[in-house]
Amino acid sequence: MRRPGVPGAIVATFVIAVALPACQTDQVDDAVADTEMDARPEEDEGEGGHEIHWSYEGDTGPAMWGSLDQSFAACDDGARQSPVDITGAVAGGESELEIRWQPGDAEVVDNGHTIVVNVAEGSAISLEGREFALLQFHFHHPSEHTVEGSAAPIDIHFVHAAAEDDLAVIGVFLEAAEADPTIQSIWEAIPAAGEPPGALAALDPRALLPEGGSHYRYPGSLTTPGCSEIVSWVVMAESVAVSQDQIDAFAALYPMNARPVQPLNERTIERKD
Ligand SMILES: [Zn+2]
Repeated sequence: MRRPGVPGAIVATFVIAVALPACQTDQVDDAVADTEMDARPEEDEGEGGHEIHWSYEGDTGPAMWGSLDQSFAACDDGARQSPVDITGAVAGGESELEIRWQPGDAEVVDNGHTIVVNVAEGSAISLEGREFALLQFHFHHPSEHTVEGSAAPIDIHFVHAAAEDDLAVIGVFLEAAEADPTIQSIWEAIPAAGEPPGALAALDPRALLPEGGSHYRYPGSLTTPGCSEIVSWVVMAESVAVSQDQIDAFAALYPMNARPVQPLNERTIERKD
């Protein structure tokens, strides 16, 4: 059942948040403040002044995230951080990834860190036999993951959750070539400052998947504070084409919103074909 104007992602995030014990309220506040988890505009965040300002440069940039707040400690101390440079991947056998997305109403939000598209309930993936619901997707310029040291102009992160602390994110690289109509419809729905979220009817996220299903898999983290190590990462090997104009349009809003790559440490990157 879908209620017009109330995308399921928001409902789902809310349900996940309220399902936790009260003693974890602070952690929930931090979790929902994460770009990867939620899309509320910055001014709506942090009841009681809890919000901590972070950015992609200078005193509040990625090198400083771990020291901005105790709840961001994993950004410094973590051993399974994201993004990473994808190199030295080993053959990983069967895919065990089933993408079951569907068209639905969506809303487009500028949360001050990126553009977020909150999708309606009903899209999900099955990863290694476990079900994760698609909540939202958002964009980084340049791409956060790199392949053999090279970044793409933009990557999309499709954020799925099995539980509040159990996410699966699918990364898709966008490369400059032909214009993409789905990206165009999203860009046109980006709200101006102070305006309500942009509405998109019957947005089909499947239009933003590459044709081939080959991908890389590794265990990692949110790429925004608090850098929680709760993400099963899936990075698609093939790219999706967008135009240089479309890349420039996003870059005009967010010239740099990518965390630098992190050490792989003891982890293995698997390639699934
Ligand atoms: Zn992201």
